[in-house]
Amino acid sequence: MRVGVLALQGDFEAHAAALRRACASADVVEVRQVAHLEGLAGLVIPGGESTTMLKLMEYYGLFEPLREFGSRRPVFGTCAGAILLASEVLNPAQASLGLVDLTVERNAYGRQLDSRVVRIAGHELGGEPELEAVFIRAPIIRHIGEGCQVLAQYGGDPVLVEAGSHLVATFHPELSSDPRVHSLFLSKVTV
Ligand code: GLN
Repeated sequence: MRVGVLALQGDFEAHAAALRRACASADVVEVRQVAHLEGLAGLVIPGGESTTMLKLMEYYGLFEPLREFGSRRPVFGTCAGAILLASEVLNPAQASLGLVDLTVERNAYGRQLDSRVVRIAGHELGGEPELEAVFIRAPIIRHIGEGCQVLAQYGGDPVLVEAGSHLVATFHPELSSDPRVHSLFLSKVTV
């Protein structure tokens, strides 16, 4: 199973390591150009800076190919990746792939509280009762569409959302040792 990690900017290396931790046999490749999408079963869009990633996606001609890829294969977006997958972006508005019916507000926790590590109980992942969630200048999901299932919440807001074969996290599961979120994504990729 070959899975790509968009490697234009951000913490793509941590995602590649997390995918390998979740499944030792996963063939993980870095995606920097359109040709790298060929033969991939799924793709991760990492955290970083969504505006920068968007500019690089446009510069390398990846915007439309990524949208097309996501129309037929699973994509997992974390933090900036979640912003890029959303259908609507606020604060400020910016273009996005529109693969998941979500409205996200960027940097929505404000200056004081924009980065923290929390433990979330009551999630839908199974296994250990608590899930560590690392938030770094995270967005808040303000609205979810009908096809979205909330798998974890923090402060009353969805932070892990499943939408068909796509997965969105506003936190950084690749920075925690717990492999459950990446395992869930890989289970979608193998279907
Ligand atoms: N604040 C970033 C943005 O709006 C996202 C931060 C992250 O990915 N950790 O793009």
